[in-house]
Amino acid sequence: MDPLSPQQRSRIMSRVRNRDTLPERLIRSMLHRHGYRFRLHRKDIPGTPDIVFPGRRSVILVHGCFWHGHDCPRGRPPSSNREFWNQKISVNKRRDALTVERLAADGWNVLTVWQCEIKDLAQLEKTLIGFLGPPSRQHRG
Ligand SMILES: [Zn+2]
Repeated sequence: MDPLSPQQRSRIMSRVRNRDTLPERLIRSMLHRHGYRFRLHRKDIPGTPDIVFPGRRSVILVHGCFWHGHDCPRGRPPSSNREFWNQKISVNKRRDALTVERLAADGWNVLTVWQCEIKDLAQLEKTLIGFLGPPSRQHRG
């Protein structure tokens, strides 16, 4: 018997589909290079964040510009079926906002990294280190 409602299942399926995207892999390897230690897709934390630093009480959400409605050229909905896409994406945005709220309420520091930010890796590296603090604290997770 399937213990999940269809809604839960489709949410999980969409998450599986979004896993291990190129931006996420790039960010993970960048973090590894700097000696950060982290967990992936922790289901016991609101929103199943992509990258979790338990010792730092920090999470990184890696968002595709299109699906999460970033205000950038990549985030623009296609010109056909505009209403359909706007509707879909606004649902995602509401969910993202709720996730950030729930994380913050649980005391997590949250950084959202957008897909378009991987165009400038040097800047992204600074952003990540600025958010996480120096990697020398790696033993704390
Ligand atoms: Zn973007």
